[in-house]
Amino acid sequence: MDSYHKILSNYEALKARNMKLDISRGKPGTDQIDLANAILNILQQDDYYSTSGVDCRNYGGIEGIPEMREIFAELLGLKSSEIIVGGNSSLSLMHDRIAGFYTHGVNGSEPWFKQGTVKFLCPTPGYDRHFYICEYYNIQMIPIDMLETGPDMDTVEKLVHSDPLIKGMWCVPVYSNPTGCVYSNETIKRIARLKPKAPDFKVFWDNAYTVHNFSEPRPIIPNILHECAINGNEDMPIIFASFSKISFAGSAVAAMAASDNMRKAISKQISAQTVGPDKMNQLRHARFFKNADGVISHMKQLGEKIKPKFDAVLSSLEEELAGICEWTKPKGGYFIHFRSKEGCAKRIVELCGEAGLVLTEAGAVHPYKYDPKDRDLRIAPTFAQVNELKDAMEIFCSAVKLAHMEKMESKNNSTQN
Ligand code: PMP
Repeated sequence: MDSYHKILSNYEALKARNMKLDISRGKPGTDQIDLANAILNILQQDDYYSTSGVDCRNYGGIEGIPEMREIFAELLGLKSSEIIVGGNSSLSLMHDRIAGFYTHGVNGSEPWFKQGTVKFLCPTPGYDRHFYICEYYNIQMIPIDMLETGPDMDTVEKLVHSDPLIKGMWCVPVYSNPTGCVYSNETIKRIARLKPKAPDFKVFWDNAYTVHNFSEPRPIIPNILHECAINGNEDMPIIFASFSKISFAGSAVAAMAASDNMRKAISKQISAQTVGPDKMNQLRHARFFKNADGVISHMKQLGEKIKPKFDAVLSSLEEELAGICEWTKPKGGYFIHFRSKEGCAKRIVELCGEAGLVLTEAGAVHPYKYDPKDRDLRIAPTFAQVNELKDAMEIFCSAVKLAHMEKMESKNNSTQN
């Protein structure tokens, strides 16, 4: 192992380069976004009718245009009648469901806010913005360990089967944010078989990365809506999907799917919110992608841009930190989960920051931003270019080594005192 002095001087030399790099958020790279630029002017002046004859320039069509419903349906393995296509953000669709259940209840049940402190299961490490929705509504978050197969289902079953205040669970089944894991078939089937103590328990099935493979064939997972229906739980899941990381992040199209019952309740809430979604943007997307095959071949091009970025990060980690730390090696999605030695994550972020590299805040992948072991970090390789990632990883690995060394020194000092 290198000496403290050598590690420190290496870090100081990198710091002196005054770099400005950012691997904090899962933003697509400009080179990825450019591939969808034809969307911007794909519609001719007289092209505004959907296949159902609806004039997309006008109000209405709460459930979205048929061609976009069809594309989502094919991608998710559902019927187009099961899909509601919304606006630009799947996160806002998730937020709105929680807000609706919180204030109005789920299909006739008491509103969540009247039932005491309601709780959500949060597979951890997980997506910080899911956690923030819960925090905002004062929903108590219970961390559930993420395994290679998905959430620890023994704990999920024990809790969901016994506590009527547990009202929901976050799931990112394919290329989970941030571990990149794909839930196993067994995990998905166990989720579908849950017998929740709360009749108004909901599975928030966030399929954000369902077609975002770059190193393996696209994983086809059991269909949660159908699996739940087989087990008498048809109203339990709400499925979300988004084109944010397919076309333009934040200016794309998002969708939901759910049982007839749930869609009826959701449509009622949407009718109170809006006179209709942005159908012109839906039409632009439908014209550009044409069908699910069009999306899959676009994703292949995106995968070719993304893979070298993940490779650059993973090979730096392998060269510098093998045997010292752990990290995931995703075959799709947008993130790598990195685990340092205990008590070092905050310091790593601080050291990186001082050397010009912005990382996602330490703790962010845990509910309440509280990582009890201070060791989990998220790396988002997509926004930077490959050469920038090499620089970024030099700083990152150097900061990890220095933080580990400082920790060891402070331990040694405290045992000597
Ligand atoms: N869900 C997950 C798991 C995500 O990682 C992201 C983007 N970081 C979103 C949802 C947000 O998607 P949208 O842009 O459709 O709101």
